[in-house]
Parts: sequence; C-alpha cells; structure tokens
Amino acid sequence: MSSASDKKLAKLHQDYEAAKAQIQALGYVIPGTVQKRQYRCGKPNCRCMTKGILHGPYYQWTRKVNGKTVNINLDIESAKKVREWIQNNRRLRKLCGRLENTSLAVLRTNTTMDKT
Ligand SMILES: [Zn+2]
Repeated sequence: MSSASDKKLAKLHQDYEAAKAQIQALGYVIPGTVQKRQYRCGKPNCRCMTKGILHGPYYQWTRKVNGKTVNINLDIESAKKVREWIQNNRRLRKLCGRLENTSLAVLRTNTTMDKT
C-alpha cells in the first residue's frame, strides 16, 4: 500500500477514535422534543383575558412510542434535564453518522469496490 493511503488511513483512524471518545463522554440520551406552552383559558374575567397574563408556562415532552405520539408534562427542572438529554441524543446521531462515514472511507481506501 502506498504511503499516501497509509497517511489517509491514519487520519481516518484518528477521526474515528475522536468520534468514539465523544460518544463515550456523552451523558444520557432520550428521543423527542420539549415545548414550552402558555395559553389563555378564555374565561372572560380571568387574568389571562383582563391583564394578558398567560397561564403557564408548561413544559411538554413529546415523543413517539411504538409509532404513537406520547405527551408528558414536565416541571421546569425536568424540562431542562430532558432538553439536555435530547441534545445529547442529537449529538449521538451525528457522531454515529461520522463513525459510518469514516468506516466507509476506510473501506474505500483499501478495497476495490465495483458497483454491480
Ligand atoms: Zn385564564
């Protein structure tokens, strides 16, 4: 194998290990989204109508379970935590993509692949 492809492989290996290390450093991961909701109840003499002070905020975590949408109400502390874990999950997906792409690049560097 040429030293050019050796260099390339070494670089790819480095990228791969870097992505793996980032995955290892990740905290908890969960799917879904968190939304902040505030609303007017519609009662004419409620403060939400008379003074414009909305109800809430309420935090709602939405995710799919077996293809069905599930909503869970959260307090602000839990909402913070869940948002962070969702963010971790997105990072995890990205990093998994990097592992795949890097692996594919390694395969292409030392394998002849003919499309059939
Ligand atoms: Zn109201």
